[in-house]
Amino acid sequence: LPGIREARVALTASKPGRTYIAIGSGKGGVGKSTLTTNLAISLARMGRKVGIVDADIYGPSQPTLLGTNEKPHAENDKLVPIEVQGVKLLSVGQLVPPGQALAWRGPMASGALNQLVEGDWGDTEIILIDLPPGTGDVQLSLVQKSRPAGAVIVSTPQDLSLIDATRAIDLFGKTSVPVLGVIENMAGYQCPHCGESSDPFGHGGAETSAAKLGVPFLGRLPLSPSLREASDAGRPPAAEHGPAADAFAALARRLLE
Ligand code: ADP
Repeated sequence: LPGIREARVALTASKPGRTYIAIGSGKGGVGKSTLTTNLAISLARMGRKVGIVDADIYGPSQPTLLGTNEKPHAENDKLVPIEVQGVKLLSVGQLVPPGQALAWRGPMASGALNQLVEGDWGDTEIILIDLPPGTGDVQLSLVQKSRPAGAVIVSTPQDLSLIDATRAIDLFGKTSVPVLGVIENMAGYQCPHCGESSDPFGHGGAETSAAKLGVPFLGRLPLSPSLREASDAGRPPAAEHGPAADAFAALARRLLE
């Protein structure tokens, strides 16, 4: 697929320099931020120097997901990322007091986001950009500014989420950013009491859509109350040991393959 090989070469450890990967979704609440956190930590555990730009102006959740309220400082007019859980972080959430809505119009939001992208990232090799959901001006100008080597799209198996994910894939296509893959989140649920499996958001939709659109499918994660609880508590499962950490590590490996 066009551009994917170049993106993968850019992501290999032997290639010097910094590679940006945009993590996008068509709609909110599909787990884009949760996946960004845990993929970043998995990549860091694989020995890579990883950073996160939390550009989700509608709900910057990386500080919560990573369990930190530390603020970055500025040096030589550049924001210096904080370090937490083995990854560096600059979040739009660090720029405003908690609970305060960002009443920023396009140009102002883009200006703030550029400051995050242009922070003092030092020797960081891979920066995951947690994009705002959707395909508006802010996303477009951020993609044009950071020139990501590739994008990952997160979707649930549900029709509505898939239609929006298709738009997101289209946005990256129009900006010549190769889509490295689609991750299906909240795919299937196993009842902890009776063990029965069900599919609250349907089954396999993201994989089918990825195939139709000719983009790779990276894998799926089940709907998991323990993942949500750990995420809310700022304890990313990828930083621990167990099946959830293994699942995130497998997705991170697929991203580099
Ligand atoms: P987005 O960034 O797409 O808006 P989030 O990562 O903030 O989505 O996730 C939305 C909510 O869903 C959060 O409460 C998160 O903990 C929860 N969540 C995400 N993925 C899962 C999952 N696989 N199982 C259970 N809850 C999840």
